[in-house]
Amino acid sequence: MNERQSAKQILHKPHWLKVRPPFSRECRNIKSTLANLKLHTVCQEAACPNMSECFALGTATFMIVGNICTRDCLYCNVAHGKPLAIDENEINHLIDAVRKMKLEYVVITSVTRDDLPDGGAQVFADCVNRLREEIPSCKTEVLIPDFQGSPEALQKVFEASPDVINHNMEVVKSMFAQLRPQGNYDISLKVLKNISSSSVISKSGFMIGFGESREDILRLIDDLAAVSCERLTIGQYQQPTLKHWPVAKYYHPDEFAEFKEIAYQKGFQYVEAGPLVRSSYHAAKAG
Ligand code: SF4
Repeated sequence: MNERQSAKQILHKPHWLKVRPPFSRECRNIKSTLANLKLHTVCQEAACPNMSECFALGTATFMIVGNICTRDCLYCNVAHGKPLAIDENEINHLIDAVRKMKLEYVVITSVTRDDLPDGGAQVFADCVNRLREEIPSCKTEVLIPDFQGSPEALQKVFEASPDVINHNMEVVKSMFAQLRPQGNYDISLKVLKNISSSSVISKSGFMIGFGESREDILRLIDDLAAVSCERLTIGQYQQPTLKHWPVAKYYHPDEFAEFKEIAYQKGFQYVEAGPLVRSSYHAAKAG
């Protein structure tokens, strides 16, 4: 198989991955609010399986600085290519949506914008500062890219002091270079180490099911514990299309429960692990 593996069909999904489609009235309302305000969500862009549950709960993970990524991770459903100019009105639309959806906990993420000098860090900071000014009761979690390891970019986000800073490792070390060719495992761990040494809560997450070994998974949990990462999410990789990296295994919920237990034993303060878990899943529950 060439380096971009593919399969004739996607491995059949077990019953525990079957979810109800996002067609409830609440979901429709959220979708129209987002569409009217020209806002992107990673929920829709990445075809998240939890959209029906989260939208019905009135939560969403907002995507800033557009929906076109400058990177091309082999498992990711987000559009790749030459990003558009930043919409100067995006933050106003975000504030309007948070007000309209009466959110008390907002998660803000972005594609990776290696084309921007600070990778979009200033836009993250501006969003957090504006939310704090205009909706002081609302907590903020930002899910940031690696900003190519730039301490200056990360400092901008620190200074805005969101409640939680999340940076996903996404995949185990042994498969990182192949699945995330523009990323770097050690740079991402360093970003998390910097976050953990700041006053902001640190969080990370990864998916399994790409063909990694059990040792690979335990190693990643150890590497994250070693940089004092406080919160962790572990979820099942679900292959978006035949063009994406083939899913190799669907882990049973009991296996996720075991990894969750191991993570707590390693000192993580809050862990969400399960077939449908994603980075922002139940983010507000951690408080
Ligand atoms: S950097 Fe993030 S958004 Fe971009 S392709 Fe990779 S996983 Fe997807």
